[in-house]
Amino acid sequence: MNLPLTGGCLCGKVRYQISASPIDSMNCHCRTCQKWVGTAYLAFMWIPADALTITGDYKEFTTLAASGNSVYRGFCPECGTALFGRYSHFTMVRPVAAATLDDPSVFNPQKDIWVADAQPWDIMNPDLPKYAGNPARSTKL
Ligand SMILES: [Zn+2]
Ligand SMILES: [Zn+2]
Repeated sequence: MNLPLTGGCLCGKVRYQISASPIDSMNCHCRTCQKWVGTAYLAFMWIPADALTITGDYKEFTTLAASGNSVYRGFCPECGTALFGRYSHFTMVRPVAAATLDDPSVFNPQKDIWVADAQPWDIMNPDLPKYAGNPARSTKL
């Protein structure tokens, strides 16, 4: 993977740069992510928080995770693209939506999470490990 990774929203007003390799990469099938991106799952990477540089004004919408912690979901106020987030209790990493990369083909998902919430029309890679909910708290299926 060639660093830095770059990406941004649909209209181009919000851009970001990632200067370190992702810590983890996964697909989240929870209902909140489904709503956020408007499709079956959110494909995202965990990036070291200090490796993410953002330019342009974005907005955040706060959702409550099953753990009780807050997830601040960052999006472009102009075009609405779901871009990245941050966690209230887990500040060392930040999630970045893989499809917003300039070259999304570098994304390499390692697991499917919250598959208990997945839609019947959501087709998953059978080779990836699957977790019913949060991988740290739920059983591997
Ligand atoms: Zn935009
Ligand atoms: Zn989710």
